[in-house]
Amino acid sequence: MRYGSSTIFSENIKSFCDRKFRVFTERNIDEITQLKHIPEDELQSMKIVAMVFPFRVNNYVIDELINWENIPADPIYQLTFPQKGMLTEDDFNALKKLIDEDASVDDIQKEVKRIRFQLNPHPAGQLDMNVPRLDGEPLFGMQHKYNETVLFFPSQGQVCHSFCTFCFRWAQFIGESELRFGTKEADSLHRYLRENKQVTDLLMTGGDPMVMKTKYLENYLTPLLSSEYDHIQSIRFGTKALTFWPHRFVTDSDADSLIALIKKLIDSGKHVAVMAHFNHWQEFSTPVVREAIKRLRDAGVEIRSQAPLVANINDSADIWIKMWKEQVRLGIIPYYMFVERDTGAKAYFELPIVKAWEIYKDAISNVSGLSRTARGPSMSAGPGKVEIQGVATIKSEKVIVLRFIQARNHEWVQKPFFAKYDENATWLDQLKPAFGEEKFFFEEEYEHMQLKVSENSTG
Ligand SMILES: *Cc1c(COP(=O)(O)O)cnc(C)c1O
Repeated sequence: MRYGSSTIFSENIKSFCDRKFRVFTERNIDEITQLKHIPEDELQSMKIVAMVFPFRVNNYVIDELINWENIPADPIYQLTFPQKGMLTEDDFNALKKLIDEDASVDDIQKEVKRIRFQLNPHPAGQLDMNVPRLDGEPLFGMQHKYNETVLFFPSQGQVCHSFCTFCFRWAQFIGESELRFGTKEADSLHRYLRENKQVTDLLMTGGDPMVMKTKYLENYLTPLLSSEYDHIQSIRFGTKALTFWPHRFVTDSDADSLIALIKKLIDSGKHVAVMAHFNHWQEFSTPVVREAIKRLRDAGVEIRSQAPLVANINDSADIWIKMWKEQVRLGIIPYYMFVERDTGAKAYFELPIVKAWEIYKDAISNVSGLSRTARGPSMSAGPGKVEIQGVATIKSEKVIVLRFIQARNHEWVQKPFFAKYDENATWLDQLKPAFGEEKFFFEEEYEHMQLKVSENSTG
């Protein structure tokens, strides 16, 4: 399909893609007409899982991205609709029993809470280890783990246009305030950035910062145009809006002012990057997402793509090959392939890291160099981002070769290290050092860092 000039196309798209955002959660799940053809017991299973994990999907995803002829296998259906396998059989049955027995709301909620807390809601020390401080006071709603890059979680962006079933930030969306973070504090963001000149990158994240109205984004970002923030060279948006609501960039009432804001940042000499979360090529199959990509690119944005490798959604090399090729064609730069994190419904979505590497290797070796900018598979673990470089045999010992591509201590970066081969391990903490060593080279120092944080938060 060929597109005409952007303006003509924009008008076209306004006429056939100008849909109104409509959202469905566990409360009005029965209003989704496409679910009427699903057997009653499957629907009940879905509702039970939706009591534990956040569920939210919108009309665009339902009407245009999911192929309903292909459920339950359809990748976008797996990406957004709760699946029975996301709970262990025991947990599922315990909840089902309470419901069948007409237990009280309180008892059901207690059970839901119990299940949630055993699912490692905050992996990789997110709530404590990465929290920056101003005058000794912790700044909740920000994370500063790697020297160059500050993560900001604006309170108006603590939701997404739709939720991913495998989301590692799922605990932020289940309404229990002690599990949330997010800040309205533009002032503390700005002060923190002014006082930390080593920071070059601001990463707006969430939830999804693109659920925010442009006026809020302006409030956070236009002050950065002043020369006090010259050290902030890049502004990144971590977002899945290109998948879940591309209208944000095309037909929403403040789409044009968003593009204008982005242009202003770029004209002032900053790099603006959209870190787009794409799991599957089916996500860029519609005219409206292609128009959104084009508008961002025309404004001077680089779109980089990142996604975890997840069972039941994108666990084959062919999917990644087709996805990366299509991204390069659209002007998107493949950036990271992640290992599914050790939280939430991981039992349903995770893959052994050796298997993840095989898929990565198979995919990356079948695309041109322009797609080989995708690094991975990478584990965002407590000590840093650890890339699985491969499997090797060194002096007759089979090992997994690893390296940090980001680390709490930048001196750890790019030093290869070796774990005993383990074809079942799914996360860094399950790996043991190779060659009879007791600890990985960074472990002692990392333990000290953890100790320091717990002293800080108790004292
Ligand atoms: C991945 C990540 C970043 C960004 O790392 P880059 O390698 O610069 O993309 C920053 N902070 C945290 C906590 C991260 O996980």
